Amino acid sequence: MNFTFPPLQHIPSFDAGLQDFLRIVDESKECCICTHINSDGDSLGSQLGLKLLLEQRGTKVWCMNPSHVPENLRFLPESASIQVFEESRHTELLAKVDTIFVLDGNSPARMRGMEAAIMASPARKAVLDHHQEPAEFAHAYAIDTDACSTAELVFRLVRVLETREGSKYLTKNIAEALYTGIMTDTGNFRFPRTDSDVHRIIAEFLDAGVEPFTVYDNVFNQNPMNRARLLGATLATMQTYHNGKLCIMLVTHEMMRSTETNVDHIEGFVEQSLGIQGVEMGALVVELPDQVKMSLRSKGSLPVNKMAAHFGGGGHINAAGCRSTTHSAAEAVQEIIRISKEYLKKV
Ligand code: 5GP
Ligand code: MN
Repeated sequence: MNFTFPPLQHIPSFDAGLQDFLRIVDESKECCICTHINSDGDSLGSQLGLKLLLEQRGTKVWCMNPSHVPENLRFLPESASIQVFEESRHTELLAKVDTIFVLDGNSPARMRGMEAAIMASPARKAVLDHHQEPAEFAHAYAIDTDACSTAELVFRLVRVLETREGSKYLTKNIAEALYTGIMTDTGNFRFPRTDSDVHRIIAEFLDAGVEPFTVYDNVFNQNPMNRARLLGATLATMQTYHNGKLCIMLVTHEMMRSTETNVDHIEGFVEQSLGIQGVEMGALVVELPDQVKMSLRSKGSLPVNKMAAHFGGGGHINAAGCRSTTHSAAEAVQEIIRISKEYLKKV
């Protein structure tokens, strides 16, 4: 079944959207928190951070995602409570809760496989996110596209509720979940949105007991050897185009089969492309059983989210992605080379 969601016509300011969001938070007694397919550090950190916050205020919370928690993020507090959505088992739960919170994604399409159950549910829907171009489906939109991560927005929510209620909600577990979200979505505090405010928030997390090395070690230093072999094979496919400004890598099904790896192991590969001198745009094309996944990265003001939109995807200016069921991996590479030409002319 194909779902199309029209774009939201009027996007409220973050502060106005947060007031709508807070009203829903206040009224909710039983909720479900969902986040996007192929969950990452920010989506899961935000989801668990919000869960731990709401539970302290007496709300019953279920966490439900379209995909499982990747192994390197299972250290996150209470990650074991996250359920992977199955239509026959979980549609009823989504219909029974009073609220569905959608985090780090702003369209039911990002919760692939859950769209029907989300839309059929009479629950109020509330979005907390930092992506552009939300879809029209929810009752509240707290969206700040200038935020470095959704975890930063959950932190703002923690602070607003602490101030309003005179309570202390920031526990070590919440701080660790949100630290992980900010660390991963800022590329370890190096992407352009990593400003002094971000570091001030991080300081609060450290005061709450987060150990940066422990989090980093869990997220990035526990790779299986298979992943290193796949990375080696992927780096060997690296090619540059357009006078060295575009760098493309490919992961084929065969490469994953022979290294006994899966799509989880590819996280972080695309960043290697921007490490090459002169490269302004990097792409990783991944051949999956039923589709081709493309990850795009750029430097400066090169909008790879607009590139991704050519394939029906999206994301941020410097990090975006898309999927195609109509291109082979080789065709996707050719399309990226073709479409990027216009964008790279300007740099
Ligand atoms: P990644 O390349 O790491 O999978 O994704 C980078 C960013 O691109 C994500 O944070 C997300 O914002 C966006 N993104 C990735 N895949 C998709 C997709 O299929 N559709 C949309 N709309 N955005 C995507
Ligand atoms: Mn995010």
